[in-house]
Amino acid sequence: MKKLLDWLLDLFYPPRCAFCRRLLREEEKGVCRFCRKTYENRCIRRELAHCSCCVAPLSYEGAVRDSLLRYKFRGVAAYGAAYADFLAKCIDESQISCDIITWVPLSRRRLRRRGYDQARILAEETAKRLNLPCEKLLEKRVDTKPQSGIRDAESRRKNAKGVYVCCAPSEAEGKHILLIDDIVTTGATLSECAAVLKQAGCAAVVAAAAASRQQA
Ligand SMILES: [Zn+2]
Repeated sequence: MKKLLDWLLDLFYPPRCAFCRRLLREEEKGVCRFCRKTYENRCIRRELAHCSCCVAPLSYEGAVRDSLLRYKFRGVAAYGAAYADFLAKCIDESQISCDIITWVPLSRRRLRRRGYDQARILAEETAKRLNLPCEKLLEKRVDTKPQSGIRDAESRRKNAKGVYVCCAPSEAEGKHILLIDDIVTTGATLSECAAVLKQAGCAAVVAAAAASRQQA
């Protein structure tokens, strides 16, 4: 039955490359061979307050940007696995070691509206590839305006301030944490979440995102 369903789904919605949307061959998983070659081995490394470092395998522009917008706003949850391949490779090659993976959560209200938490999927898929535990350590208590609608770094910092809490301090204590989000722009959100985890007593935080954008 499962096989028949897969076959029907493939017939009506054949799997396409997450970036260029070319139809995928059977051996291609999530991303076509051309895009895999184009986007592989490009790990971006940035400095971020409260984090030991921040890494991202993709640059937030062109086909990558369009792809991430489809992931975020048009319900293409399946892309999470494709990005996680790049993210896991980038983390592995950056020789980052950590005990536990967590993510920047959505507020409950936004989660209800969207139906899935894109950073959580990314964190869970990355954890599988790196053989690490993935736990919910943060909660977004206040439903703020989306950061994507705010331009300047200072306003983004203010918008993220005080809205996250650590919901599992005993899990965070003493740990080296890998904190995942889908996109890093100014880094205000990741940085605020890292500060909250530090206050909860973790040893260190490394931030990672599928894609990074340098601020204009
Ligand atoms: Zn492609």
